[in-house]
Amino acid sequence: MKKIKILIVEDEVAIREGLIDVFVYHGYDVDSSGHGTEGLEKALTGQYDLILLDVMLPGLNGFDICNQIREQDRDQAIIMLTAKSSDEDIIEGLSLGADDYVAKPFSIAQLVLRVQAVLRRTHSVVDQQSKIQLSDEITIDTQNLSGIRGEEELTFTRREIDIVQYLYANSQRPVSRDELLHKVWGYAENIDLETRTVDIHIAKLRRKIESDPANPQHLMTVRGAGYRLLGSE
Ligand code: CA
Repeated sequence: MKKIKILIVEDEVAIREGLIDVFVYHGYDVDSSGHGTEGLEKALTGQYDLILLDVMLPGLNGFDICNQIREQDRDQAIIMLTAKSSDEDIIEGLSLGADDYVAKPFSIAQLVLRVQAVLRRTHSVVDQQSKIQLSDEITIDTQNLSGIRGEEELTFTRREIDIVQYLYANSQRPVSRDELLHKVWGYAENIDLETRTVDIHIAKLRRKIESDPANPQHLMTVRGAGYRLLGSE
């Protein structure tokens, strides 16, 4: 299978080198630039599956780069990286068409998860990718219904894997019980459902993927909103 190609545009050397190492480790083909103008040039000519784009850059800032990429390629997957974290910046980034927005300091595992989620939404090629890596410790193989947590081998039911895959594809937001019942179980929407069946499956999943199921680090409950799947360091 062709390697997924990522461009990292980030002027801080330590962060850039760190990101290169991480994405090479995860099997991606990585290119990089520490300058806005050069980054834009590469972005427009390099045929990348995804671009990680810092905002504050010498030459040209990330929002301008994002804007100019979008003028030429509406479908280019872009994730903005920035130290700025006010809502206004997030809205500006997203309205310029970034697919996601990750504020520094970010967890590397969380960033990898967000990259995988954006690639799943934007590139059908990644649908063939069957491994979900939640952290250095936990990998889930969605095709073989298996996984590894530390030294422990895990097995899953098809339903559990379907839940993980759905949460993973939507990891930028919490997913409600009703939505899971509709999308994963296939029940019609807006009927009064027994949502406890979702909770039971979540509890079973936590016993598998969490080292301390009572204090989950990945399969999180978002009060009043549902469940969200997170990566971690
Ligand atoms: Ca910067």
